[in-house]
Amino acid sequence: MHIMNTKELSPLFTVDISPAAISREKEKGRALRRTQWWQRKLAKGICHYCGKTESPGQLTMDHIVPLVRGGRSTRGNVVPACKQCNSRKKYLLPTEWDEYLKALSTDGDDQRISTIEVFEDC
Ligand SMILES: [Zn+2]
Repeated sequence: MHIMNTKELSPLFTVDISPAAISREKEKGRALRRTQWWQRKLAKGICHYCGKTESPGQLTMDHIVPLVRGGRSTRGNVVPACKQCNSRKKYLLPTEWDEYLKALSTDGDDQRISTIEVFEDC
């Protein structure tokens, strides 16, 4: 079992959010995982970031804006991500993560991948 050590996060990239607020959002995230909306996303089996097809069991729920940075467990802020992307995102600085996303994009004309794209498929 992997336990995230929040002390690894640079204080530069944290916002003033109380532990109580974070656990509230985590609880909302758990509820969101049980919804039909999320189950349908998992069933598609596609990582939001790299577009790789994964079996639903291999996908994790990723917060585009992490909770510690003030993100919320809302439909607009959670996406299915493969474990590889999820762990990279956790440990890269936001600028490094942007570089990673750009590297994934093979289309030279379109260097920007919108990470705040909202899927309305329900
Ligand atoms: Zn991925």
